[in-house]
Amino acid sequence: MKPTYRVLRERRGDGATLDTVADDLRCALPLATSARCMNPECSEICEWSPRRGRPPLFHDRLCHERYHLVRRRLVEEREDIFEALARKPGPSTSERIYLENQLARRRWLLERYPELLRRPHREK
Ligand SMILES: [Zn+2]
Repeated sequence: MKPTYRVLRERRGDGATLDTVADDLRCALPLATSARCMNPECSEICEWSPRRGRPPLFHDRLCHERYHLVRRRLVEEREDIFEALARKPGPSTSERIYLENQLARRRWLLERYPELLRRPHREK
């Protein structure tokens, strides 16, 4: 089994120059070349391509659209629940408990729908 990149760097010691980063990356334990589709409801796989251009986050267009649809819905509902909890006069105890539970559920689901920030391909 190949050593990890970190092990290779540590072997070179504190004086290692940046000239050797590419060599160490080439020799290190390789990273995965595939990953699950970003849609939490989907179990398809996306393959990394060494070609230029954006590597896919979703296995198809429908998953991409579904992701943003569900995420938007969760964010909108979360905002309404925030406002309902903050209204004056405030909600009754049982309603507040229900709303807080619904808020927690949306927060829990939104952990699976992170905001996707597309960065330029060549990051500096
Ligand atoms: Zn998918």
